[in-house]
Amino acid sequence: MALLTPFVALRSDELTVSVSELKVDFAARGPQLAYRKPRQGDRDHHGNLWVRMSESPVGRPVYASMHTSRQRRCMERLLCQVCGEPADRNEQGWLFLDWRRPDSPRTWPERSITSMPPLCVEHARVSVRQCPFLRRAEYAVLRVRKPQLYGVSGTLYQLADTGWHTSENDVLSPYSSPRLPGMLASRLHRQLRGVMVVDLP
Ligand SMILES: [Zn+2]
Repeated sequence: MALLTPFVALRSDELTVSVSELKVDFAARGPQLAYRKPRQGDRDHHGNLWVRMSESPVGRPVYASMHTSRQRRCMERLLCQVCGEPADRNEQGWLFLDWRRPDSPRTWPERSITSMPPLCVEHARVSVRQCPFLRRAEYAVLRVRKPQLYGVSGTLYQLADTGWHTSENDVLSPYSSPRLPGMLASRLHRQLRGVMVVDLP
């Protein structure tokens, strides 16, 4: 059976932002990362600057990486990460797959923080059969009553005399903490609350 290409998968010809497009913006509360040529939608409601990425869903899929704006759209609107249609929801909640990671809470899968958007029934079944990440880890099929928007993660830039420099990748910035002015966000996270482990529908 041919591998299905998830809607959120990055394509090889989709390019991301280069450091030369970034500048220091001297805002009232101190310097912050900004684009030289700002566009509408660069920042989310919390003021986080998002990475820009071209969209051309024709290139070779890069299964291990997610396209930033497609990931964000699926997570924001609770769309299936494979087909981009509304994810499955019943009286027990939204359908998610989640696996135990080294930094998972002891209450896992309850309160797990994830950047993997939910799924429709058909693609939950396909993912369990095909996803290499699930084969390597302890995972659970979940119904989630309250998948709460939690925060963003991305590359953290640090301001030096010569401009912005990358300091850390994959830094998680919860909405409950003050915004990081050097954050270039690339993923939206939800915290899974009101979780029930179920059989694959
Ligand atoms: Zn689907």
